[in-house]
Amino acid sequence: MSLHREFEFAIETVRSAVQICRSVQSQIDVGRWSKGDKTPVTVADLAVQAVVSRRLSEQYADVPLMAEEGADELTNPEYADLQQQVTQHVRTVCPDADSPATVAEWVGRGQTGVDMNRRYWVLDPVDGTKGFLRKEQYAIALALVERGQVLLGVLACPNLPASLTAPAGETWGQLYAAVRGQGAEQLNLGPGNVITGRQPLRVSGASQPAGADWVERVEANNSNQDITAQIGQHLGLSAEPHRLDSQAKYAVVARGEAALYLRLSLSKSYTEKVWDHAAGMVVTEEAGGRVTDVWGRPLDLTCGRQFDRNRGIVASNGQIHEAVLAAIRAMVPAE
Ligand code: AMP
Ligand code: MG
Repeated sequence: MSLHREFEFAIETVRSAVQICRSVQSQIDVGRWSKGDKTPVTVADLAVQAVVSRRLSEQYADVPLMAEEGADELTNPEYADLQQQVTQHVRTVCPDADSPATVAEWVGRGQTGVDMNRRYWVLDPVDGTKGFLRKEQYAIALALVERGQVLLGVLACPNLPASLTAPAGETWGQLYAAVRGQGAEQLNLGPGNVITGRQPLRVSGASQPAGADWVERVEANNSNQDITAQIGQHLGLSAEPHRLDSQAKYAVVARGEAALYLRLSLSKSYTEKVWDHAAGMVVTEEAGGRVTDVWGRPLDLTCGRQFDRNRGIVASNGQIHEAVLAAIRAMVPAE
């Protein structure tokens, strides 16, 4: 099955949405912005979802979309100002966005439900909303799924430096993209968000956990970080993990800078969402890595919008995966 056309279209669609995020983010004044105010990320979330949904529906009218956001704020008259802002941003990519009602219709397509036995797109328009608001890491994540298999995935990481040790400064970020069975690649972005180069991705060659670099959430609560810190110590991983918001964590594993991304939710009430992982997992796997839940089970996408049959995430370079799972089994009480 050739997915070349779908792949290049997904890359182009995600790339076209990056400018919206940059433009909204540039308007956030971190010093003055109040932490409780989520308006900027709501604008970006809705505008990106509208644009991606619109482009996909024009090209693949029969393939439905599962996306994170709902259109409630776009239809409620209380949010007229927000609706205008979103519509203006959408128009920069889709000039036919003639009204908030049109934009609401495009966004709403992401909530209409999908048939698990058929092909569908999965979108997180702005993954890592807290990182977006801090002007740190966030991602636009698009995947194509069929019968529980991620066929392809594209992540845009517009703020990710070329290397985690590079001084934070100007970066245009990168796209990370993969087709199942065909490897993963990094596409560098340059001024104007044009693609300036493409190169294959390969996970780290670390054969032992000892000394390996690893990555985890910024927003993990303290008790989760205690347990991951204990696991890290037990395995002899590098003392401090890199902390990044969003699926940029999968990108960092795929490009070999970290051998492990550990996401251990102790809260039994939290179930991981499909759009938070679908694109990232195929990128990491196709770069030579392995992705399971914390009990070593493959991620089961057939439950709908959530991973009801999984707990947490272990994404690694593959070589250290079994050692990490053994440490989790030894240190985390079985359910
Ligand atoms: P990250 O940037 O890796 O922290 O992931 C952000 C995503 O975490 C959000 O899009 C939420 O869907 C998800 N999330 C929210 N609450 C939790 C939680 N308690 N445990 C794990 N993930 C969560
Ligand atoms: Mg998300």
